[in-house]
Amino acid sequence: MSKSEKTLTPKLVKKLWLAFILLVVLMGASYMLITNHFAGKHYEETTQRLNSEVANHVIAEKFKDASPFLEDGSVNKPLFGDLMHDMMAVNQGIEVYLLDDAGVILYSVVLVHDENTPAKQVSLAPIKSFIAQKGGKYIVGDDPRNPGEQKIFSAAPYAVDGREGYIYIILASTNFQAVSDTLMGQYFAKLGIGATLLTSLFSIIIGLLAIWFLTKNLRLITNTVRRFQEGDLGARIENSNDSDIAIFANSFNEMADTITGNMDKMQSVDLLRRELIANVSHDLRTPLAILKGYIETLQMKRDSLSESEKQEYLQITHDNVDKLSSLINQLFEYSKLEAEQVTPVKEPFSITELSYDLIAKFKVLAEQKQIRLELDTQENSMVFADVSLVERALQNLIENAIKYTEPNGKVTLSLSQKGKNIEINITDTGTGIPVNEQPFIFDRYKQVDKSAKKQGYGLGLAIVKKIMDLHDTTITVLSKPKEGSSFIFNLPAYQVS
Ligand code: ADP
Repeated sequence: MSKSEKTLTPKLVKKLWLAFILLVVLMGASYMLITNHFAGKHYEETTQRLNSEVANHVIAEKFKDASPFLEDGSVNKPLFGDLMHDMMAVNQGIEVYLLDDAGVILYSVVLVHDENTPAKQVSLAPIKSFIAQKGGKYIVGDDPRNPGEQKIFSAAPYAVDGREGYIYIILASTNFQAVSDTLMGQYFAKLGIGATLLTSLFSIIIGLLAIWFLTKNLRLITNTVRRFQEGDLGARIENSNDSDIAIFANSFNEMADTITGNMDKMQSVDLLRRELIANVSHDLRTPLAILKGYIETLQMKRDSLSESEKQEYLQITHDNVDKLSSLINQLFEYSKLEAEQVTPVKEPFSITELSYDLIAKFKVLAEQKQIRLELDTQENSMVFADVSLVERALQNLIENAIKYTEPNGKVTLSLSQKGKNIEINITDTGTGIPVNEQPFIFDRYKQVDKSAKKQGYGLGLAIVKKIMDLHDTTITVLSKPKEGSSFIFNLPAYQVS
């Protein structure tokens, strides 16, 4: 089992887990940030609303009997000292500022001091809008002790001794903010951790279930692939069309079919090859044994044999050498065709002329067997094919027709135009081929009648079949035992334009 296959599912599961964890952490973090932000806002708004009237109270309570300014125009510090006293008892988190009508700080009451340099002036815009809408809305203004920062406040205008200005009260002072931040921090840390833990727990449960469901199909496929790899060639993914990854499941099934199909094909090719070798070696041995016998006789009885006997023996050895060389040639030719080493060189040529030549060539052989060999053609037909391969095929077919026809029989080679093709038909009045054997005659080396083996090697028609394949055409056999056979094939006609 390969490493990649073993780790396929765990790797995917790991990635899914990583994505889940990342999601949970991100959710937790955003939850904490959002809650923190809105809780802070909520707190500030509530505080501002609750304390919106504080500035008005200061003016109403403190300025009703005493002026915030002394006669010399300076700030009435005792009055503010008194105010500080009151404030301390109520809320140490607030800071009170006395502003003039331009926002300049005239005096401040700050309970807890720090090192920040306080600002000399604050912006009046938020103060004015706070007064205008009477504390109904959440507004932040300049924090004098932390220039650049904004805080919630309460403000009210005063007009005393011809001087106008504002009482400006920061509700969440730096001091208060620090305490609040710590508490808030602790609270939200607890809340955040709690929420994250709870979310994680749910996510783990949901994640486990989701991953289990998501990888169910993948596990099925992986198991099937593994079974196939381990030799179970029948292993296929069931209901592959319903799978979440149908395209993958279907592809695997198709691939497995192709592999098993190819293996079957290879096995049958291998079987035929072994059969061929066994039969060929048998056929090589027979003429060799005959040759050896006659040569030995000639050697041993050289002096006692008559001249005519010697001639006869030499003729027999000659015939057997012919047989051997023809078998070896056929084998060579067939293996070249089977190994696809032959590329047809197609060209236009006259099939009529070729047929005339072949008839002339086989005339003597036919006459020896008292067989009539005829050519039946009307016109000069041109085809587009490999001339030497077609010649080879025709030779084999005519040879067979003569071979399997009894004396006084007839062999006809006819050519006729059939649409865009020329039909070539070799008909004999010979022994014919039994119907059940007809499908196998083109298979290499499957001789129909084993007893007739002496007559041939079973390679002739196999070679013809290969030549037809190279011309993208097929050969048909029509045969009736004791009546004769017809071998018919088509070649593309060449139109002379
Ligand atoms: P062989 O060398 O045995 O002739 P072929 O491949 O040429 O091999 O032929 C295969 C078998 O087909 C032959 O053994 C024979 O039984 C049969 N056959 C082929 N052609 C004919 C024919 N014209 N008439 C009858 N039988 C034939």
